[in-house]
Amino acid sequence: MTSTDTPRITDAELRAQFPLLHQKLGRYDLVYLDNAATTQKPQSVIDAIAHYYTRDNANIHRGVHQIATRATEAFEASREKVQRFLNAAHKEEIVFTSGTTDAINLVAQTWGRADLMPGDEIVVSEMEHHSNIVPWQMLAQEKGAVIKVIPVTATGEWNIEALDALIGSRTKLIAVNHVSNALGTINPLHEVVSRAREVGACVLLDGAQAVSHFPVDVQALDCDFYCFSAHKLYGPTGIGVLYGRRQLLETMPPWRGGGEMIDRVSFSGTTYNKPPYKFEAGTPHIEGVIGLGAAVDFVQSLGWDAIHQRENELLHAATERLLRIDGLKIYGTSSRKVGVISFLAEGIHPYDLGTLLDNQGIAVRTGHHCTQPLWERFGIPGTVRASFAPYNTIQEVDTFVSALEKSIDMLR
Ligand code: PLP
Repeated sequence: MTSTDTPRITDAELRAQFPLLHQKLGRYDLVYLDNAATTQKPQSVIDAIAHYYTRDNANIHRGVHQIATRATEAFEASREKVQRFLNAAHKEEIVFTSGTTDAINLVAQTWGRADLMPGDEIVVSEMEHHSNIVPWQMLAQEKGAVIKVIPVTATGEWNIEALDALIGSRTKLIAVNHVSNALGTINPLHEVVSRAREVGACVLLDGAQAVSHFPVDVQALDCDFYCFSAHKLYGPTGIGVLYGRRQLLETMPPWRGGGEMIDRVSFSGTTYNKPPYKFEAGTPHIEGVIGLGAAVDFVQSLGWDAIHQRENELLHAATERLLRIDGLKIYGTSSRKVGVISFLAEGIHPYDLGTLLDNQGIAVRTGHHCTQPLWERFGIPGTVRASFAPYNTIQEVDTFVSALEKSIDMLR
């Protein structure tokens, strides 16, 4: 399934790796189409976590006994896997956080508090998740900084023409998503990164919706920070990653104080550890990090070609079928999209549709998807969102579309 010399894994073989998928909701087989909210976990991830607790459970880094050594080695091996996964230059550039939200808050509370001055500008886009808006609003309020917003077009893409007016000598940070969770749009990052370089601004990329769909290379992207959550990459909840350029992490002050993040503690003055440990106070989410390492292995075993091919098939099949439904409108029609479809059926509230779909075994998301400013731009409160993963099948797309047609008929 990965390349021409690797045989393509069958649907059944792939689905067999995901125990949760094999269940009924009432009398219906589950059709899980809420992958942008969180992906399901392969057995290899579940096994890696179980193995840690059954064989290797100990606190990491300072123990001399063998169990602690094994736990530490497994934990740090995951850091190296993530380094390679993002093509970061150094493993010290990989900081474990509790997720994307936590990673963005870390940058706001360390880099932001130390470096931002009154009147400095932070550029975000209209399609950001709330977690890439609110931390900057809180910071801007504290520091007297100003938030500027890249507008979104009717097709759900950045209005690139607006960039010249938005990015200038006062811009200190551009914080934008790589892929929109609400629209599926893959954003043209080179446009903002090159302008950021011209004015000397930092770039933070929210990769929460990107890392499961295509390879990410932080050196090629030339970003300063990149964030993602393991649970959207077939890994566990409560664990995520902040990639930070080494020179920046070295000069940024610590955020949370406690064990592990120190060099030496004394009442006459405390000194701090080096990155990444400077930002990892306290006992970390050890099994989460180990599970994340297994999730990276899983994605690599599947291969990007196969992931891309399968998700594209699902996206195109579903889009084509949905567009045939009378009065149905898709929000986010860029030609560069991942497998996310946000839509509304005329005259029907998204919650009603979501509930009827659930009654037929189909899990989709309804509501604002944590992007209220985006829906304000479109003049709607939210949408129904179906999002795909490679373990979904064309048959599931058909089941979903038939159930949707039936639900719309019932509600009209
Ligand atoms: N950014 C984007 C684009 C997202 O889709 C999400 C979650 O849906 C987040 C950030 C927040 O991720 P988490 O809740 O895992 O911190």
